[in-house]
Amino acid sequence: MMAEAKPKVAFYWCASCGGCEEAVVDLAEDLLKVVEAVELAFWPVALDFKREDVERLPDGSLAAAFINGAIRLSEHEEMAHLLRRKAQLVIAYGSCAHLGGVPGLANLHDRGSIFQYVYRDAPSVANPEGVFPQERFPAEEGELELPAFWDTVKALDQVVEVDYYVPGCPPTPKVTRAAIEALFGEGELPPKGTVLGAGTRALCHECPLNETKPDKLLLEGFKRVHEVIPEPNKCLLAQGLICLGPATREGCGALCISANMPCTGCFGPLDRVRDYGGKALSEIASILNSNDEGEIERALEKVADPVGTFYRYSLPRSFLGRRIRRGDRP
Ligand code: SF4
Ligand code: SF4
Repeated sequence: MMAEAKPKVAFYWCASCGGCEEAVVDLAEDLLKVVEAVELAFWPVALDFKREDVERLPDGSLAAAFINGAIRLSEHEEMAHLLRRKAQLVIAYGSCAHLGGVPGLANLHDRGSIFQYVYRDAPSVANPEGVFPQERFPAEEGELELPAFWDTVKALDQVVEVDYYVPGCPPTPKVTRAAIEALFGEGELPPKGTVLGAGTRALCHECPLNETKPDKLLLEGFKRVHEVIPEPNKCLLAQGLICLGPATREGCGALCISANMPCTGCFGPLDRVRDYGGKALSEIASILNSNDEGEIERALEKVADPVGTFYRYSLPRSFLGRRIRRGDRP
C-alpha cells in the first residue's frame, strides 16, 4: 500500500525581523510533530530552498503557504503572488503580514527620505561619494539586479488574497499550534478570513488584572512606562499607563501584562473593527476625565509618539495608510 502523501507547506519571510521565523522554531518539540505531519516544500530561512524550487511546483500543489513580514520590496510582492498561485491556502503569519506591522511605520516617510537618511545622513554612515542602492548595476559578471524598494509598505492582503491570519508580534507558540491544528486537524476549515488561534473578545477579558479594572474608569492624565514602577496586581490602565487591552484581540495570554508592560496591540483589532488605531485612540480618549481643552492637551502631551502608540502594528492596514506630504502624488 502506498503511504499517503503529506500536505506540502511553505514558509516565507518578507519585510520581517526574523521573530516570526523564530516563533516557528519556538514550537520546540511540537515543531517535530509539524515536520512529521507535513512536507516542508519551501523554508528558505532554515533550509536551502531557492525560488526556482517553488516555480517548478504545479499551481495549487502546496496545501498552505505561511507568509510573515510586510510587503516592502518588489521581491516580496513577486513571492507573495508566486506563493498565492502555488498554494491552496495563504496564511498571513504575524502582525507585519496581518496589518503591516512595525515596518509599516515607515509609511510616515517616503522612499527618497528613507534612502537619504539611511545611506547619507544617519550619524553612523560614512558615504562621502553619496552611493545609493541601484536597481540595476553593470558589473564584470553581467548586469546585477536588486529588488525595487517600494514607496509604501503594505500588509499581505493588500497585494494578494489571504485566507487566514495568525496574529501577534510574533505569534506565540500556543497561537501557532492552535492555527496549525485548525488548518491540518480533523475538523472542518474555519470560515475564510478567520484570525486563527486567538479569541474574539478584547484582551481585558483574559487579563489576570481584569478584576481590578474599574467598570467606569476615568483618569486625569497618563504616565509613561519609565515614570512609574507599576503596582503589581492592579490594572495598568487604571494606573494611568496606556494599555491597549480594551481594543486588542485576546489570545496572547496577556504575556506583556504579566511582565508589567502595557499591551501595545500586536494581536490587532476585533472582528468588526476596520481601523485598529482609531478604535484604540477612542478607547483611551474616552477615559480622560476632562472637558477642558488645555487639560486634555496636557494629558495628550504624555503620548510622545501618537502614531507609534496607536498604529504601531497597523498603519498600512488603517484608513490613513501612509503620510502624504503636500505636493506628493496621491
Ligand atoms: S510580526 Fe513582529 S516578530 Fe514577526 S516579523 Fe513582524 S516585527 Fe518581527
Ligand atoms: S487595560 Fe490592560 S491591564 Fe487593564 S485589564 Fe485590560 S489588558 Fe489588563
